[in-house]
Amino acid sequence: MQESVQSEQHDSASKEPSHAGTVICRFGRNLVIEDNKQQLIHCSFRQNLGHIACGDRVIYQQTSEQEGVVSAVMDRQTLLTRATFGGEEKPLAANITQMVIVLAPQPEPSEYLVDQYLIAARRVGVPAVITINKADLLDEAETEALQKRFAHYELIDCPLIFISAHQQQGLKPLTDLLQHQVSILVGQSGVGKSSLTNALIPDLDLQTQKLSDKRQVGQHTTSASTLYDLPTGGRLIDSPGVRSFRPGKIDLQTLENGFADLAEFLGHCRFRDCSHTTEPDCALLKACESGAIHPKRLENFLHMKKELEST
Ligand code: GDP
Ligand code: ZN
Repeated sequence: MQESVQSEQHDSASKEPSHAGTVICRFGRNLVIEDNKQQLIHCSFRQNLGHIACGDRVIYQQTSEQEGVVSAVMDRQTLLTRATFGGEEKPLAANITQMVIVLAPQPEPSEYLVDQYLIAARRVGVPAVITINKADLLDEAETEALQKRFAHYELIDCPLIFISAHQQQGLKPLTDLLQHQVSILVGQSGVGKSSLTNALIPDLDLQTQKLSDKRQVGQHTTSASTLYDLPTGGRLIDSPGVRSFRPGKIDLQTLENGFADLAEFLGHCRFRDCSHTTEPDCALLKACESGAIHPKRLENFLHMKKELEST
């Protein structure tokens, strides 16, 4: 595949040949890059390249057997970012192709949070999957109730998969969806993201060990973003920042994009300034009545819109 280079900064003094690679792990100003032969190399990068994220495709020059310097970052297909306190968007993961939203019976799942994640997925430009973990805690009736409660997401192209990370149950449909993709797991703390990561990647420790071998002595890497290989195919980017990712501030357009199921009805109400709550001939309320929109989606949309207008 032909890849274009975003910000090439060739060092004219460098006689080293250039290689292409993928950022497998980023910690501070250090990168572990995987080359096209799955060999790992420790790289530094120049400040003027800006932020480099795990998953980025880069060009580097090898300066010794073990070391290299990244000189360019290739165009990203997708970029997941996190807003810093200063309002700056900091890259969390590059080139992801799928978001896996993890829910569980405990902590209590929230459609509102799911809808926020779906806005974020839409903004990044990737599809989302919902997994309900800890299915082992549910009896048949409870499973059915949760299935019913979240079924409407399947109608908006968001598959719903019940699993148990602990008992390794129901993982097959999920691993099938993870194949050929670069995925991230997101969700509230306590839903089982790390348990699921461990269940999906049995050789997680080995992969981490291989990476630490490439890191400089004394580096603490617990917060490093890492791109793992899934044994069944596909890859997973994981880091505390990615796992606890919460969608930041958005504008009206981003909100409407995130509610594609509602968007086709917007602008079709009798009143231009319809609040979509009690008005006659409200296209959105009618769509709810006919089942084209789930009322909870409309409720969350209106709530988010209000929040957005009040800030
Ligand atoms: P994270 O905060 O999302 O990474 O969640 P953890 O993986 O740390 O899990 C939170 C808690 O849920 C821990 O006590 C886990 O043992 C428990 N847990 C995770 N997966 C399962 C599961 O499939 N079944 C049950 N019963 N408990 C689980
Ligand atoms: Zn309306």
